[in-house]
Amino acid sequence: MEIIKCKCVNKGIALGKVFYFHSRYEGIAKKITKDINSEMGRFGDALTTVRDQLSTLYEETLLKVGKDEAEIFEIQKTMLDDPDYIETIEGMIKEEGYTAEYAVYQAGNVFCKMFLSLEDDYMRNRSLDIQDLSSSLINILEGYELSFDKIPQNSIIASEDLTPSQIIQLYEYKVLGIVLSKGSLNSHMAILARTMGIPTIIHGGERISSKINGCWGIINGFDGLLFINPDKETEENQRYLMQKYHKAQEDLLKFKGMPDVSLDGVPIKLYANVGCLSDVEAAIKNDARGIGLFRSEFLYMERNSLPSEEDLFDVYKTAAELMDGKPVIIRTMDIGTDKKVDYLDLGEETNPALGYRAIRICLNRIDIFKTQLRAIYRAGLYGDISVMFPMIISKEEIVAIKDVIGVVKSELKREGIPYKEDIKIGIMIETPAAAVMSDVLAEEVDFFSIGTNDLTQYTLAIDREHTSLTEYPFANNDVIIRMIESIVRNAHKNNIWVGICGELGSEPSLIKKFLSIGVDELSVSVPDILPLRKIIRNTNSKND
Ligand code: PEP
Ligand code: MG
Repeated sequence: MEIIKCKCVNKGIALGKVFYFHSRYEGIAKKITKDINSEMGRFGDALTTVRDQLSTLYEETLLKVGKDEAEIFEIQKTMLDDPDYIETIEGMIKEEGYTAEYAVYQAGNVFCKMFLSLEDDYMRNRSLDIQDLSSSLINILEGYELSFDKIPQNSIIASEDLTPSQIIQLYEYKVLGIVLSKGSLNSHMAILARTMGIPTIIHGGERISSKINGCWGIINGFDGLLFINPDKETEENQRYLMQKYHKAQEDLLKFKGMPDVSLDGVPIKLYANVGCLSDVEAAIKNDARGIGLFRSEFLYMERNSLPSEEDLFDVYKTAAELMDGKPVIIRTMDIGTDKKVDYLDLGEETNPALGYRAIRICLNRIDIFKTQLRAIYRAGLYGDISVMFPMIISKEEIVAIKDVIGVVKSELKREGIPYKEDIKIGIMIETPAAAVMSDVLAEEVDFFSIGTNDLTQYTLAIDREHTSLTEYPFANNDVIIRMIESIVRNAHKNNIWVGICGELGSEPSLIKKFLSIGVDELSVSVPDILPLRKIIRNTNSKND
């Protein structure tokens, strides 16, 4: 038996035969052909196949996932029919004598560079679609499209990385689980895997290779483990865990619609943490009472340039409308440390977690900050939207933020653009400085949301990304609990509400504590909502 440690993208357990999927071409060798007609014919056939695939993908995604995800394929179809793109490839075949795959590869690179050089954000982002399209055409020309047909139903897919179109097609083959050697937690792939409920783990490294093709495997999406050729006892244990999980999932459905209140009648609101619109849809399906943390920085990632005011406005407006009057708390972007975007060119830092990130970038790049605030204040007209600021360390920052908000509102008014006047303002309490000063900060804002992930990292001086300190033996939650108690006291003294949006908020063993000290809200990842509701409803806030 071999055990490979990975990172979790989506919970669940999957048992099955591993199929290693070659997800991308490794680079195409330059080849010259004498048979131009045959290459033109091959290219024409590949175009037709990709066109058909995109139409099918659009329909299926619309049906099974959602409109936003389906649009990825609609845009790609329009791009595939772009005469410039097609003529460039055909020109390379006819004039240079390139093989069809090499012409697609070269043209793809040319168009990618061209899109990246454009000013317009939307157009710059199309470079990713060109890469995906070229990849699909080359896979067909190289015969990889057969791989989908060859995949036995109910397989565990192992691969280097997957594009959105690949994961949708793989889903068709009733994939049980996904393990990647690379991958990214915030990629479209990860978002789709979560939305489709596929147990998925990533960052498995070089051991996830074609060598494990055909082996019996188990993905444990809770602990982030891949078992290859598990022994009998491991398999029995994992099967037991899987059945327990499925049964628990079914049982939880009965908690939909039930109030979030303890046995002795103490209410606590259960909200969801989201990063995109499909997460909002999943939050609704799981009966979240609101969105407690919209990590807006995800809208900045997986792009090649800053999102425009309209891009952000569209997402926030849709989120507010989908939530249909329930609260939506949008956090301004928390870029920096692990959440980097190349186009912001933030430079190398010795200690990025202690460096230029989140509100520090916004208060320095007022242009970027104003774009976010304009989008939020405009979208406020479509539902119950609040705004929240990350990484606050002082009252002076809040004063500076309020100044910018004042400017944004007067500019919108002057331009005759409708916006919501009285949006509630909150801050994340996620630095020891903010925790210590919470009595002073509470006078300045409408609510607090405690970010225990960063609060723990900065208080205990343990890097949250550190792979070998994840379960540091002397780390003690009591320190953080004491801080939470004092933050809650200070919030309530000033008549503002306080929630927890870090991972500690979904720790079952702490629910009683949170209820007893009067935490008003817990914002947790979507799959944790119903399990937590069950725990809350079965907990007595006082000592029995
Ligand atoms: C936190 O720090 O607890 C938090 C919720 O923010 P993030 O995890 O996005 O840094
Ligand atoms: Mg944080």
